[in-house]
Amino acid sequence: MTEYKIVNPATNTLVRRYPTADDATVDRAIEAAAEEFTDWRRRPVKERADAALAVSREFETRREELAAIITREMGKTTREALAEVDLSAAIFAYYAEHGPAFAADQRLDIRGGDDVVVRSEPLGALLGVMPWNYPYYQVARFAAPNLVLGNTVILKHAPSCPESAQAIEDIMRAAGLPAGAYVNVYATNEQVARIIEDPRVQGVSLTGSERAGRAVGEAAGRHLKKYVLELGGSDPFIVLPDADLEAAVSAAVEGRMGNAGQACTASKRFIVVDPLHDRFLGAFTDAVRALTTGDPTDDNVSFGPLSSEEAARTVIAQVSDAVEQGATAVTGGTRPTRTGAFIEPTILTGVTPDMRAYHEEIFGPVAVVHRVPDTATAIRLANDTPYGLGSVVFGRDIAAAKAVADALDVGMVSINGPSGTQEDLPFGGVKLSGVGRELGAYGMSEFVNRKVIRVR
Ligand code: NDP
Repeated sequence: MTEYKIVNPATNTLVRRYPTADDATVDRAIEAAAEEFTDWRRRPVKERADAALAVSREFETRREELAAIITREMGKTTREALAEVDLSAAIFAYYAEHGPAFAADQRLDIRGGDDVVVRSEPLGALLGVMPWNYPYYQVARFAAPNLVLGNTVILKHAPSCPESAQAIEDIMRAAGLPAGAYVNVYATNEQVARIIEDPRVQGVSLTGSERAGRAVGEAAGRHLKKYVLELGGSDPFIVLPDADLEAAVSAAVEGRMGNAGQACTASKRFIVVDPLHDRFLGAFTDAVRALTTGDPTDDNVSFGPLSSEEAARTVIAQVSDAVEQGATAVTGGTRPTRTGAFIEPTILTGVTPDMRAYHEEIFGPVAVVHRVPDTATAIRLANDTPYGLGSVVFGRDIAAAKAVADALDVGMVSINGPSGTQEDLPFGGVKLSGVGRELGAYGMSEFVNRKVIRVR
């Protein structure tokens, strides 16, 4: 049974429990979103864009308060929490500014010369199922484009972040959105399945694990509902022989250790072509050893705890499995003695295909470094994963780096810089990393009826 509660992972103490919704509450949420849709969609797009801008301003105004909530819920540092609030504000502002143009009619020049327009209409009430790693950002990139388009949103957040879930709903109200346009609901997985099944709901977007993605995708498929899935990743970070070593190491630290390693697009597998391997590993190890873990509200620490005690245990089990089978923890590999869901930043070498760390996503501050003899082997190893989300390629010869980018089975490649996300850059993956795209113009292209109107 899903239990919504805040357990501060920096201290492993229970802060507050929240009641799980009963079936009548879930039904009211669906009814409210479905009913509001008939009005919300008819409003001028400018009105919905203005509402999105007001949401952005609310994020800005409540910045500190919102950041403190997620630091308490899932342990990210105050610095990172503030950056997440700012990014969420930027996403709403972006769709407020550009959404109306993305949703504008498209005139088609067809054979025969008839007057044809493709109108972008919203689909209806949508369900969002969101995770704890970026409690505001994950919701913003789903909700902002869809609200501006004219869809309404029912939001089931992760059970570990009920306070931020409520705060988002409060922001929507304060920004003037009608109650049914955005409804937070503390639902169980069974209730999620029923929401997807309900004929009043037209689609579902989930960010989370492969397991959750399969469950939600299956339910949506069974009921022929549109879905978007943003799932895990085991992103490769390829260092070519001509790479700028200092820049590569700095991007490696940022890309792997940011958010305590709990990002789907974190760089997880560092694939270094032989001539640079030892120098890269040496400099990367020095940089990782210089990181500090501790109280996430302390501006001097590099990162705080993982999101929960369970998350820390899972990551340590993956590391131990590798070490027991012959991998080396060059640094880290253990948990500090202090209370809380902490683990030491870790670098593993000698990871082979029979170890969990080779195939599985490691959702924590653990880097796996592989040595390869040449670029072709680097590409093969990079693609030897069930995932295909992001990737990084470092090399001074941009044409060569782009050729590597072309050979990667992924949704995103960043050349000479860490993977990043921003409101105007499309985001998404292939293989087990998911289905569909978010952000940029593509973020408004998923839950839309492209209605063709032809005057003959
Ligand atoms: P989950 O995927 O279980 O949780 C994400 C969201 O999906 C939560 O709201 C969760 O709710 C919901 N969910 C899970 N199963 C179902 C289901 N059967 N039906 C409906 N909703 C469901 O993530 P975890 O917290 O368990 O993390 C496990 C792993 O997932 C991580 O270690 C990481 O590998 C990956 N992950 C990836 C993320 C990403 O950004 N791509 C984000 C978070 C996790 P509930 O908890 O109530 O089941």
